[in-house]
Amino acid sequence: MRDTIRQLPASKIREVANAGLGRSDVLAFWFGESDEVTPEPMRRAAAKSLLDGETFYAHNLGLAELRQALADYASALHGPVSADRIAVTSGGVNALMLAMQMLVDAGDEVAAVVPLWPNLTAQAQIMGASVRRIALRPDRGAWGLDLDALLEAVTSRTRVLLVNAPNNPTGWTLSRPEQQAILDHCRHTGTWIVADEVYERIWFGDGAAAPSFLDIADVDDRVVVAQSFSKHLLMTGWRLGWLVLPPAHVDAMGKLIEFNTSCAPVFVQRGALAGLQIAPAFVPQLVQRLRHGRDLLIDGLAALPGVEVARPDGGMYAFFRIGGREDSLALAKQLVERHGLGLAPGVAFGGEGEGWLRWCFASRDPQRLSAGLGRLTAALGL
Ligand code: PMP
Repeated sequence: MRDTIRQLPASKIREVANAGLGRSDVLAFWFGESDEVTPEPMRRAAAKSLLDGETFYAHNLGLAELRQALADYASALHGPVSADRIAVTSGGVNALMLAMQMLVDAGDEVAAVVPLWPNLTAQAQIMGASVRRIALRPDRGAWGLDLDALLEAVTSRTRVLLVNAPNNPTGWTLSRPEQQAILDHCRHTGTWIVADEVYERIWFGDGAAAPSFLDIADVDDRVVVAQSFSKHLLMTGWRLGWLVLPPAHVDAMGKLIEFNTSCAPVFVQRGALAGLQIAPAFVPQLVQRLRHGRDLLIDGLAALPGVEVARPDGGMYAFFRIGGREDSLALAKQLVERHGLGLAPGVAFGGEGEGWLRWCFASRDPQRLSAGLGRLTAALGL
């Protein structure tokens, strides 16, 4: 086995989840998914596809009608995006891995804005790259970017800059001026921007989506946007995502998909197509429910003495810390074992997140969140 693989860190979220294994009384908020099932029209479309016998290999880049529907969807949000820039992938995480395979050689330098969902940095490591971490900084619970530090860290040696905004776990989102400054700088250094925008629709600010690099980049810029059906269409278990690429890179991406998965399953793509049809009505309702969950949770956390937290504009997480509790892994394990409360330890997202805890508020039932708050209150001895 390659040393690089042997040395990959195991998931610390799993480590906490394992501490609660086999217990039905745990209120689990550790994973990044809703407890709500995929809307019925989507499940129906997938079932129909299977019953109709769509059980064969399909085009590497995805069904033509899905690529077109995604182009229309992205164009409505961000201005013209043509179907020939789109590659359908087997999940957002697969989209990101494919982007890394396309862009990164062993020995390259990849810069990443952190804390960050650890899969992104692990993927760069798997390719043999070194990862340079650019830390967001907390200010009364709200995380912000030190733009000067980023511009200094990204040089002509930086092959790829990984930016996930809205960010998992902090909820931090890029502002338009920050985005523009990063794009201008990366044009200058020749650095690719891999923008993980899977939470763009889980957005509580103005407009239908968080600021996207698609809003400002030219088609031929070195920008790759990774997307997913998981979050805003509740498709986590289906494994479907997509990439928006410069047109000249799409054929190469088709080859890479051939060698990785060959294609995404057709019935899954049919379910997604149905999802894009209901998205205009469904997504705003989902965001409304999530906003309610966010406010309930943030207000509850902020009312607890010693808790530092801010209201995120995007994403589905409260990221908070409790004064005097520095070891997030030990604390998260203790919360599961003694209080039946399942949270993700901040250190799972890198050393920058140590001392913090992540709580996913994408729960259909607000009472679950309230019950969780009750358990945390009890755990703090209040
Ligand atoms: N990027 C980020 C930041 C995520 O949090 C996730 C899911 N947790 C993904 C990408 C990938 O999502 P999926 O593979 O389910 O599409």
